[in-house]
Amino acid sequence: MPDKMLMPHMRCVVAGAGPAGLSAIYHLDNETLLLEKNSTIGGGCRSIEEKGFTFDYAGHIMFTQDAYVRKLYEVLLGDNLHWQNREAWIYSKEVYTRYPFQGALYGLPSEIIKECIIGAIEAKFGKIDGQVAKNSDKLANKINDCCADGVVEPPEHTAISAPSLRCCPAPQNFEQFIYKTWGEGIAKHFLMPYNKKLWTIPLTAMDTSWLNGRVPICDLTEIIESALKPVSKPMGPNAVFGYPLRGGFQALVTGFLPHIKGKVELNAEIVHLSPRNRRVTLADGRVFEYDVLISTIPLPELVKCMQDEAPETVIRAAQDLKRISIRCVNLGVARENITDKHWIYFPEDTIFHRIFVQGNASPHCNPPGGFGLTCEISYSPWKPLPYDGEALLNRCIQDCINVGLLTREDTLITANEVDIPYAYIVHDHARQKNVSTIKNWLEEHDIILSGRYSEWEYYNSDHAFLAGKRAAEAAAFKLGIGS
Ligand SMILES: Cc1cc2nc3c(=O)[nH]c(=O)nc-3n(C[C@H](O)[C@H](O)[C@H](O)COP(=O)(O)OP(=O)(O)OC[C@H]3O[C@@H](n4cnc5c(N)ncnc54)[C@H](O)[C@@H]3O)c2cc1C
Repeated sequence: MPDKMLMPHMRCVVAGAGPAGLSAIYHLDNETLLLEKNSTIGGGCRSIEEKGFTFDYAGHIMFTQDAYVRKLYEVLLGDNLHWQNREAWIYSKEVYTRYPFQGALYGLPSEIIKECIIGAIEAKFGKIDGQVAKNSDKLANKINDCCADGVVEPPEHTAISAPSLRCCPAPQNFEQFIYKTWGEGIAKHFLMPYNKKLWTIPLTAMDTSWLNGRVPICDLTEIIESALKPVSKPMGPNAVFGYPLRGGFQALVTGFLPHIKGKVELNAEIVHLSPRNRRVTLADGRVFEYDVLISTIPLPELVKCMQDEAPETVIRAAQDLKRISIRCVNLGVARENITDKHWIYFPEDTIFHRIFVQGNASPHCNPPGGFGLTCEISYSPWKPLPYDGEALLNRCIQDCINVGLLTREDTLITANEVDIPYAYIVHDHARQKNVSTIKNWLEEHDIILSGRYSEWEYYNSDHAFLAGKRAAEAAAFKLGIGS
């Protein structure tokens, strides 16, 4: 450890320059210091540039339901922003269908469509042949939102006699939610294999608190209509999305810099935190004292930094938090217009579960004559990466050929890998209790948690912007200043 050097006292220190940390300092005054361990800002919203290609840290797009964030987008990007209709597709059974699977069945083999429709009907009304539907044996006696479509239909308003509606409790886990909402066919042919591939753990181990608004819910009529004719328009919360015209997704977060009044320090990794003494120590030996700390760094990392100052209950709770990592294999292909889609989901046996196509989000992400593809592969202690380096790259290329995106004649201008150790937090059944244990203890020491991996919440960047704003307001309140 280098010699320690005590630096001038700061009223507020913000740890981490991802969207939450940048938003926090943006909303605070000039007596704020932002410490970021990387040499660039942006956290999970960074982009890299190589040989004329721009690749994001996994596919990122802008969408929000929040009016404040929509205004913030204009502040951050000005006219470097464009909006477009989403072209999100699924490749399965050797055909492309629109996302969401359950709202765009047209084009799938007829047997599959039949299974999906019958399953969806049975999930709503009970087995056609009078037997009990899968998973409904676990259902108790209260009426709930059987289809999770926001509508509880009382039996008296239902034309068909619907015994299952009278014994339809709320789903206890993500797997039950899938079966109860969409039925066996849609579960079997997309939602179960895709989500198992992405999450790497049994879906029964996950709760449903994170789903709110994330999974497009369509009703039975929409499911049936979607099987009869092609669906021409995208549906769901991000059917229209924004993306920076130039600079990749990074441009959005870089847009904070001209507006920040405090100080931003890069290459400033926090290696030790003393809540008792209100001090953070950096890897280079500098020590900063603060009145209030806003932390946006991953919760398990923060707790590790506190070493034995954290009580055993807090250490154990942090060790029990579960997450999924993502490895991106970026391919810069020497051929233009490989696909017109923005991203594609792969529920079957490709190594990647999704490919993102930055060059269709903005043409400036590709050099002339080139086309970038980002293959996203999830891994975890429960499903380690089967290959690394060259072998992983070769497997991605082979799978791209297998699904018809690349040909054997294609050549690469460039290829690289980006690793995201903290990618998706897992909403397992112990998450809420563990997070509360840690958060409550930290609050007693004027440490405010903010952001996706700090609050351990399934936030997108718009939620992280709002989390940073909330944290700034809480810090200003504690310090007795206007934010
Ligand atoms: C695969 C994937 C796809 C996504 N797609 C989208 C999308 O389409 N749209 C969208 O809006 N969002 C998307 N997101 C979510 C988005 O990336 C996150 O919401 C956002 O990055 C969270 O911001 P944050 O500031 O909370 O955390 P982060 O971005 O992780 O920022 C935390 C910062 O803390 C720094 N740090 C960590 N440890 C230390 C330390 N010891 N000392 C100092 N600094 C430290 C990190 O380097 C980092 O810069 C996606 C995420 C993933 C994984």
